[in-house]
Amino acid sequence: MNYVCKFLLIFLIAFTASGVFARSYQVAIDPGHGGSDKGVRLSGDTFEESVTLAVGSLIKKDLDKSGSITARLVRPGDTSASTAQRFKSAAKADLYIGLHVNAGFSRNSSGYEIYFPGFKTPPGKENSSGEIVKDMVRTRHLNESVRFSRLLQKNLERVFPRKGRGLRDAPIPVQGLSIPAVVIEMGFATNPKDRKALADAKIQGEIAEAIAESAREFFKGDKQ
Ligand SMILES: [Zn+2]
Repeated sequence: MNYVCKFLLIFLIAFTASGVFARSYQVAIDPGHGGSDKGVRLSGDTFEESVTLAVGSLIKKDLDKSGSITARLVRPGDTSASTAQRFKSAAKADLYIGLHVNAGFSRNSSGYEIYFPGFKTPPGKENSSGEIVKDMVRTRHLNESVRFSRLLQKNLERVFPRKGRGLRDAPIPVQGLSIPAVVIEMGFATNPKDRKALADAKIQGEIAEAIAESAREFFKGDKQ
């Protein structure tokens, strides 16, 4: 190997190691509700929309420091946005995270829940070749959504020990969204302990950190 080749090789290795060629990822964060749609009331004039925005903004701040990951809030401020607008804004991302606060019929319901979309094939179209290809893509996204949900479960368990209510397959409307997606119900506004925790800036920070860490671990495990 001549001198020039050696130089080029070292240059290439150094650049690769420095992460210049590393893939970058985008996370779409969707703080539920906003504008005139305030969501559920936690207490006084504290509503779900401000909790989801606070946690979402903290996740973005945390992820934007990661270098290879950038985050975008599909609802950047106290504004309303339709589901279609949110998904359009999220369409080019690699991961979608929806944030909500739950409400139960009983004060006893408490804890966080993680939902992932089932990506079911439309009825009657199971055998069309186009649908089979789409199905393979849906299956991959579903597997990835479940993998991310498990990371979330592991990291949120540190913030809320034994408060997880499990992973749930739900008919989340994901029209136009063809990326791994989860919706996190962070706790119950109807439970006194949960609503106190969700309105607490320190705990909001801990939830955001757990979610951001899950996203970092998710992309680290991405083999693409
Ligand atoms: Zn909600």
